[in-house]
Amino acid sequence: MTASVSRSSNAHHGLSVDEVVLLLETDQHRGLTGRDAAERWERFGPNTLPIVAGVGWPRRMARQFHHPLIYVLLVAGAVTTGLGEYIDAMVIFAVVVVNAVVGFVQESKAEAALEGLRLLVRTEARVVREGRERTVASEGLVPGDLVVLDAGEKVPADLRLTRSAELRVDESALTGESAPVAKDEVVLPAAVQVADRRNMAYSGTLVTTGSGAGIVVATGAETELGTIHRLVGAAESLATPLTRKLAGFSKVLTVGILALAAVTFGVGLLRGQGAVETFTAAIALAVGAIPEGLPAAVTITLAIGVARMARRRAVIRQLPAVETLGSTTVICADKTGTLTENEMTVATVWTPGNQFEVTGSGYAPDGTLHDIDGATPELGSHPGLRWSLLAGAACNDATLTYENERWNIAGDPTEAAMLVAAAKAGLTADRVGELIPRIATIPFDSHRRYMATLHRDTTSRGTDYVVLVKGAVEQVLELCTAQMACDGTTRPLDREMILRTADELAGRGLRVLATALGSVPEPHSFDEDALAYGLTLTGLQAMLDPPRAAAVPAVAACHTAGIAVKMITGDHAATATAIAAHIGLLTPADRHEATVLTGNDLAALPGEQFPEAVDDATVFARVSPEQKLRLVQALQSRGHVVAMTGDGVNDAPALRQADIGVAMGAGGTEVAKDAADMVLTDDDFATIEAAVEEGRGVFDNLVKFITWTLPTNIGEGLVILAAIAAGAALPILPTQILWINMTTAVALGLMLAFEPKEPAIMTRPPRDPDQPLLTLALVVRTMLVSTLLVAGAWWLFEWELAHGAGLAEARTAALNLFVVVEAFYLFSCRSLTRSAWRIGLLSNRWIIAGVTVQALGQLAITYLPAMNTIFATAPITGQAWLRILALAVTASLIVAIDKRLRRPHPHPPLSQNLHNDAPPRHRLPIGTNTRQKS
Ligand code: ATP
Repeated sequence: MTASVSRSSNAHHGLSVDEVVLLLETDQHRGLTGRDAAERWERFGPNTLPIVAGVGWPRRMARQFHHPLIYVLLVAGAVTTGLGEYIDAMVIFAVVVVNAVVGFVQESKAEAALEGLRLLVRTEARVVREGRERTVASEGLVPGDLVVLDAGEKVPADLRLTRSAELRVDESALTGESAPVAKDEVVLPAAVQVADRRNMAYSGTLVTTGSGAGIVVATGAETELGTIHRLVGAAESLATPLTRKLAGFSKVLTVGILALAAVTFGVGLLRGQGAVETFTAAIALAVGAIPEGLPAAVTITLAIGVARMARRRAVIRQLPAVETLGSTTVICADKTGTLTENEMTVATVWTPGNQFEVTGSGYAPDGTLHDIDGATPELGSHPGLRWSLLAGAACNDATLTYENERWNIAGDPTEAAMLVAAAKAGLTADRVGELIPRIATIPFDSHRRYMATLHRDTTSRGTDYVVLVKGAVEQVLELCTAQMACDGTTRPLDREMILRTADELAGRGLRVLATALGSVPEPHSFDEDALAYGLTLTGLQAMLDPPRAAAVPAVAACHTAGIAVKMITGDHAATATAIAAHIGLLTPADRHEATVLTGNDLAALPGEQFPEAVDDATVFARVSPEQKLRLVQALQSRGHVVAMTGDGVNDAPALRQADIGVAMGAGGTEVAKDAADMVLTDDDFATIEAAVEEGRGVFDNLVKFITWTLPTNIGEGLVILAAIAAGAALPILPTQILWINMTTAVALGLMLAFEPKEPAIMTRPPRDPDQPLLTLALVVRTMLVSTLLVAGAWWLFEWELAHGAGLAEARTAALNLFVVVEAFYLFSCRSLTRSAWRIGLLSNRWIIAGVTVQALGQLAITYLPAMNTIFATAPITGQAWLRILALAVTASLIVAIDKRLRRPHPHPPLSQNLHNDAPPRHRLPIGTNTRQKS
């Protein structure tokens, strides 16, 4: 029956909704049937973009040869072949192939790791099938499906809109135009271009406001996004500021070393040495000295970091975030859901004159209400309480269901809690719907801070229609002129007393909402103006939202690590302060005006005082999403590296501005996720702390790799340079240098990427992002180790010759010394501060595996006759090995002394009460440099 349905066509904007319905054999109101959907899925496949379209493996393999170093080697290989030195040529070509294969495998692995992450952040879509709305993974959509859209969601496929209400869509992913586009369902001329097709919503774009629905006209690769994806291929960049910096550094180094090689070649020729010999020596110098493994190692280290973070439930969307996380100095976290569980239970219902405690916890409606005497109130004789509970339950869009032997909620936890409180008093949602069916709604939003509904009143109250309101106490009070006591009597509003009561409840860490009632003689247009005539406050409902257990140690860990944590919330200042105290954000001494600022305080602050005041405060209450952007900018202007959480559509600008925008994976909107650098799959604050820890680990490993690779590479180059300059016999032959370079970079150096984090990683202050890579200590270390390598190899070579060894044997000893010293030095580089002994020699099994492989390689090149022929080596004696070990141990001791002398003085642990202070190291004067994320 679906034979005529096709997967795509780009002319749907020119058809009426009815025509599209006919064409796609669907129903504008009831959607497809389950069977139809299943059949179409079989036919059209999943609604996903093909992975890594475009760049196939042959091209990626070819890319590995596109490198100046490889060109040099290829020319060298060709020249060497031309000169009849076939074995040397073979070695050079082998090096080229090994280099390309290793690069290819590494790159593929890194890409696969990043690709896999996409699956962790799944997009869901709301689809109507057989007349019922349900949530499905967006992969499951098929042409003809009827999809429902709301603000904050990502459009899951190409849709011809059938309905829209103030629908605006951010189409920048498709058209590059960042201003949201208004949508409707009017038929358009066929010639209209994609960017102007108002009646279409395209896959991958984001709904910023309003709501709507549409019929799926194209899925997967057939969507407009799919077309673009095909055109550009998966050109996902693996570059970060650091990799770019390093790539630049490598380029300069390469040019320098090539120039040096050319000079060496010239000097060799002038000295009358053989052209072939000098040429290969110059090539070996270049290959040895250029740290060609560096960019690959950085990408691998970052990719491993990304995978480690994903395991700890932080999904990185932008690779540079891995680096930036390590230098975070402030984390601004939402209260509800990030620092707390977002599992609300109404604990107290207050009505003017009475207070009731509610028993039971969680969303099971098992529990009762009782007053201070323990008596359960009879709702019939407590109209005030009844109307408060009714407002909570009826002015409410959450639903409560009992499935798989547990109570589940759909919708806002705050609303679910009020639904449960009413149910505990016998007012179940069904009963409420019968008593006061809803006619109209003013939805909740973070600016308005209340929700209002209009109902027909079937109970005997003498009026046919009622207005119910629930929301933040201050906002609801604004709408009220009277209050209703529990027994139903109405009095003038005692604002002070109500605010005091709310403060008291909030001081216990409870989230307090006020409820109000109004009556209207007949239904009218229902908007904010309709509430202006004066409502009656019926009560307060105070709910418990337990702080996350993991937040307490995570906050403490951040403080020890010199990272300030700030709470940002739309909730009441007293509630926020109590929760902040509970999780260790505020000590009793801190609980003064300067540490807790409200949205109004922020608005009243003069511009020049703003950054400092924000830097000094810890809790920001009753903050609107727009103020978050200003907070980030203010903190950045103080030199901070800011991580900021967010979940709503309005949070997107702040998330983009923050150095690390963090979105909630479970409770956040697609818009927020799209704007973020990192998504928390569990919404938990502790996950941010974990990610920072991993970020620091990643950076450490990069520094470790650089610390290992620079001295060894330079040493490899120097040994040749020194020999040619001295006009002496080469202690290590060019082909042997190529062997050392290729095998040690992979088997030894790369293993540092797997180094576990140092235990004290969260006790030191954040890294200054502007700190140069090449520090003085690193330059000195590079010189020291390369000198030791060259001097050791040279001395051993001469000693072996002087004591009767042949040339090949002496060179083999020098070659082995080089590798053994590099292996010993690898252990030293496993920690930047601690000695190799203290970390435990066997604590990184990758290193052990790498060293074992390298050792086998050395035995092979020393003792296998075939290898002896290729590399001009010869077996060496046991005593020679002992001399090698003795020299390597001596070199290690010298390096250990250097490390010991340079060890930074242990800084005093950053104490708990420092937590309000950002690390002062790179604070800038107020008002300078509002950093913009690249
Ligand atoms: P966060 O800590 O994540 O910023 P929040 O939930 O406290 O979160 P908002 O959602 O902006 O922040 O809520 C602000 C205030 O609005 C709440 O403190 C509460 O008083 C009120 N409120 C929250 N949800 C509702 C709702 N569904 N209906 C009516 N009022 C609500």
